[in-house]
Amino acid sequence: MRVAIAGSSGSIGTQALDVVRAETGAYEVVGLGVATSVDTLIAQAQEFRPARVAVGDPARRAEVAAALPWATVVDGAADLVEDADVVLNAVVGFAGLPVTIATLRRGKRLALANKESLIAAGPIVQPLRATPGAEIVPVDSEHGALHQCLRSSNEPEREVARLVLTASGGPFRGRSAAELATVTVEEALAHPTWAMGPKITVDSSTLMNKGLEVIEAHELFGIAYDHIDVVVHPQSVVHSMVEFTDGSTIAQLSLPDMRLPIGYALGYPHRAATPFGRIDWSRLERLDFEVPDRSTFRMLDLAYAAGRTGGTAPVTLSAANEVAVDAFLAGRLPWCGITDVCDEVLGRHDPWLPTTVDDVVTADAAARAVASSVV
Ligand code: MG
Repeated sequence: MRVAIAGSSGSIGTQALDVVRAETGAYEVVGLGVATSVDTLIAQAQEFRPARVAVGDPARRAEVAAALPWATVVDGAADLVEDADVVLNAVVGFAGLPVTIATLRRGKRLALANKESLIAAGPIVQPLRATPGAEIVPVDSEHGALHQCLRSSNEPEREVARLVLTASGGPFRGRSAAELATVTVEEALAHPTWAMGPKITVDSSTLMNKGLEVIEAHELFGIAYDHIDVVVHPQSVVHSMVEFTDGSTIAQLSLPDMRLPIGYALGYPHRAATPFGRIDWSRLERLDFEVPDRSTFRMLDLAYAAGRTGGTAPVTLSAANEVAVDAFLAGRLPWCGITDVCDEVLGRHDPWLPTTVDDVVTADAAARAVASSVV
């Protein structure tokens, strides 16, 4: 199986290469792409010898070409799709959209870790899924779990009663709004169960990550928002569940290790031979579940509202959130300001239906401009 990895220097990208290393002989890495982390890219390419590498930063391309004389250096990660059977889109944020589009247009399997492209550009991405050979297998642990649970039904459109996404609750679970007024960047980045990149870790602390995942679940599986629930599960062992019309709930369980859903998406429909996150039942003491605190973590309901509105509302929320999270990480916005900025930007937004990538780019840029001024 030939695999290309867009965003290979990040948390998902490096763990994907762990999977490739572990699954001896199963994968050939034909493409690796980064935005600016060229030192990591060069080291990875020297180990995996891909024919193509993508470097987003034009100023660094000559240096990469000199270090990897056998490889073709291309501009964007979307140019990695050509030679691959499966493309892992692990680009962070809205920048991942071209990879999603290029992969589906060429009728390839997309292992999708970039949730923003599906959330922001749902109306543009959805029709491309009908391209012969095109298929999305989600890498997100929750959606990977739902994908696995849904395989237990031959007629999911008739038999699924609801999707239940689990949320760890993040580092601030159980705290009041007053206690959260003064939290620091370091506290927001200290996730209790998952080691992830900074943007998604902050999104996890606000429950925005779960909100975006609700929209992602709706887009991926075509289930109405009224039939998608969120339950807080602090141990992050049950990764999500599907309840069927007969009352049965099927859950997917494993210890938190992203290499499992990454390997599942890369190898689908086959299972990896290497176990990641396997459970030692003699040591697993308890599994807890509680309802999310929607009044303190308002981002969850903002995301449901944006998802139900549809059109440009999800891209507006996602873009506003990216701007707000950047400002928080740079020390220019308090933690609770992230939700306030998103609320304000969404409140000022007049939704419309995007039909082209340019429409989504326009909506994204407009939301970023408003969000920056609000920040
Ligand atoms: Mg997730």
